[in-house]
Amino acid sequence: MKILVAVKRVVDAKIKVRPLPDHSGVDTKLAKMAINPFDEIAVEKAVSLREAGKADEVVAVTIGPLKSVDTLRVAMAIGADRSIHVRTDDVLEPLAVAKVLREIVNREKPDLVLLGKQAIDDDANQTGQMLSALCDMPLATFASEIELEDGRWVVTRETDGGTQTISLSVPAVVTADLRLAEPRYVTLPAMGRARKKPVEDIELENLGINTASRVRVLSVEEPPVRKAGVMVASVDELIEKLKNEAHVI
Ligand code: AMP
Repeated sequence: MKILVAVKRVVDAKIKVRPLPDHSGVDTKLAKMAINPFDEIAVEKAVSLREAGKADEVVAVTIGPLKSVDTLRVAMAIGADRSIHVRTDDVLEPLAVAKVLREIVNREKPDLVLLGKQAIDDDANQTGQMLSALCDMPLATFASEIELEDGRWVVTRETDGGTQTISLSVPAVVTADLRLAEPRYVTLPAMGRARKKPVEDIELENLGINTASRVRVLSVEEPPVRKAGVMVASVDELIEKLKNEAHVI
């Protein structure tokens, strides 16, 4: 079994980003970048499936600028065997990313394609769904468990009311939710070993895929500032305010 994991380089989750002065996007120029947290979880799960003897190879893929190699190094430090870097300075929307991933799927023929449930920069939650449709493969989103049973992927999904367990034929596309795995701490020796693992470099232009944008960002705004709270002196006053001011009881 071969597992392909898509990893995206995004602004570090701990960094607070600000809209650009023209509101066309967010200012990422000086921001610390990191592997998308859900993708890190996906890599950890893929590696643990290989360690459990359920998979033979884990391949990480990213689409992005030269610096995205750092993200692949993290994936390989966690344990991915090798990587593919599709190089572009363009910012691709989910449909374009899915089309590029389809090309990599066609070349690699993985038995499982793992993605994060969403990238924390665009919060699109679209790429896995689009990829499964483009590749005509079954899909499980929001996975909190993946098992290989009798030649099928058995996936537990997080749903609003609890969990749902489904069985998918192979190959399949699965997107990772928070509880799927707990990423291991990446040590310096592991980073050193990752540097020696192979990274295939592909120029996006050479793939001949139409990645032109069809979605235009009209405006990016900060969330409205929350009004300061008030201290109440007693439970009676709280109830009175909830009744007559907030009108929630
Ligand atoms: P999104 O649909 O943008 O929220 O992204 C969902 C998932 O698609 C991410 O968690 C990644 O696994 C994958 N993905 C999105 N963009 C890229 C990219 N540029 N390179 C590799 N994987 C990506």
